[in-house]
Amino acid sequence: MWNPRLLLAASMATLLLAAPSAPATMQAPALRPGEGFAITLGDGEVRAYGEARKEAPMGSLAKLLWMRLEGSEWSSRGVRYTCKGTAGSFTCWNHEGHGRVDVGKALRESCNLAFLAWIQDAHARWKTDYGEAAARARMEEVFAPFLGSRLPPGEALPPLTPAWVGDGDLLRTSPEAFLRWLMEPDKAEVVTFGKRFLASFWVEVQDLFGKEGWWFKTGTAPVPGDPSATSAWVAGGRGSALVVLHLPRGRGKQEGMTRIREILGLKD
Ligand SMILES: [Zn+2]
Repeated sequence: MWNPRLLLAASMATLLLAAPSAPATMQAPALRPGEGFAITLGDGEVRAYGEARKEAPMGSLAKLLWMRLEGSEWSSRGVRYTCKGTAGSFTCWNHEGHGRVDVGKALRESCNLAFLAWIQDAHARWKTDYGEAAARARMEEVFAPFLGSRLPPGEALPPLTPAWVGDGDLLRTSPEAFLRWLMEPDKAEVVTFGKRFLASFWVEVQDLFGKEGWWFKTGTAPVPGDPSATSAWVAGGRGSALVVLHLPRGRGKQEGMTRIREILGLKD
């Protein structure tokens, strides 16, 4: 039986004793068919289980890419948006609308319209500040690992569509690939935003990590070839640990959170 308490304890003990060559022993978590899970304990090692290398549409994890690009700008400017459920040709997944949101609430509740509005502003600002070709290069730098060859060639910014905030299957990743992305040093800010905006009060091994709670970003994504189905994503972390989970079916907020809590052994 995989026990995250022992696993984290073993790893933290290793770090505290400054003996990084002694590997933390662990057994695989009990995953269901089709699930993929990847974890790092902050030691640079990635442990991948189940379908951790299988690529799928990334859903709202795409909003973390935007936090990498614009999070500090939006946060320092204190952007706000009032989501009424529709805006022009765009609709939010929450047809009732999210009401007034700031960056933290838009990220927590995955408000597509708020992100689209702020992205539209960002695109206009980039074009003015350094021209369209450089603006596109800036976007490609962050999005390339998730685009495959699906970005039309050229020097223009791609048209702004809900695909850029995780609708459809333009942006794809796997649990392991997304974990490795989050682990890159220049993504530290994304993790900081997660801790700041998405942390919960689920506390485990408190004596090792202090009072810091887990943060989780959930996502719901389409299932290619099955229009009636959705799949679920959860990315998150605590302290220097990071995890990414994908379920072949389900919605991130419900099924994804239930499973990550089971897998990590978290209590309410
Ligand atoms: Zn909304």
